[in-house]
Amino acid sequence: MIFRALFHASVIVVLTALTQIGGLVWLLALGARRVFNLPLWGGFIGLYLTAWAATMVIAPMLGRVPLPCLQSDAATPVVLSPLTCALNRQYVTPALATQLGGVALHINEKFPGTTTLILDANFPFLDGFPLLPHLSHDDGRKVDLAFYYQDRSGVYQAGKTPSPIGYWVFEPPRANDPQPCRDQGSLVSLRWDMGIFQPRNPALVLEPVRTRTALTWLAQNPPPGRTSKILLEPHLRKRLGLTHASIRFQGCRAARHDDHIHYQISL
Ligand SMILES: [Zn+2]
Repeated sequence: MIFRALFHASVIVVLTALTQIGGLVWLLALGARRVFNLPLWGGFIGLYLTAWAATMVIAPMLGRVPLPCLQSDAATPVVLSPLTCALNRQYVTPALATQLGGVALHINEKFPGTTTLILDANFPFLDGFPLLPHLSHDDGRKVDLAFYYQDRSGVYQAGKTPSPIGYWVFEPPRANDPQPCRDQGSLVSLRWDMGIFQPRNPALVLEPVRTRTALTWLAQNPPPGRTSKILLEPHLRKRLGLTHASIRFQGCRAARHDDHIHYQISL
């Protein structure tokens, strides 16, 4: 009995951390098993799908909108991984959604057919509820974007990233690049180097022109009456020739930002 209770408590914690609504849905599935004699997993999946769809309708009423999980046209940003959407990690405030639409449109005016890819955003509900492992993604005003990539001959590759989830394949610093964290490896830091994921001869490398164009637009166009902040590793800031004060280094005790762009707006 006690083990069963502990098992369900752990499942609820894990599902809540992963999807925000999953723990609650598990509780409902336990209730449905007791009342209607429904199988637990079957009940959970059915209820989760229902809750997932309902969240798409309810969250906007409470201030967060889902970013598109399917691309309608190139000028619309799209979430890279279906898993991000399945786990409810694609929600932002309407102001941030407008910004993302703005940068996707701008880059398409300059380079038609360019896809702006979204990685982790925020959960649909509750300020202060972090989207692990991104501790700051807890209020709908933070989002991670993928870099734009090209193949080794320099041809832009729409919709592609070197890692299937967009994270953890780092754009390596070059000789003489600033590397403030080089000698500061630490187990307690969130700066994971993910050595096993680093390809020897990556088929995809950073496409600097589109990436610089997007970063410049974001830095120069904060939402009306608000400020914005972008986190990027210093070696990429230097390589891309970016000097805006809003493009900053996150420090050595946070996640690396040479595999993605972190973008946030103020209230
Ligand atoms: Zn982030």
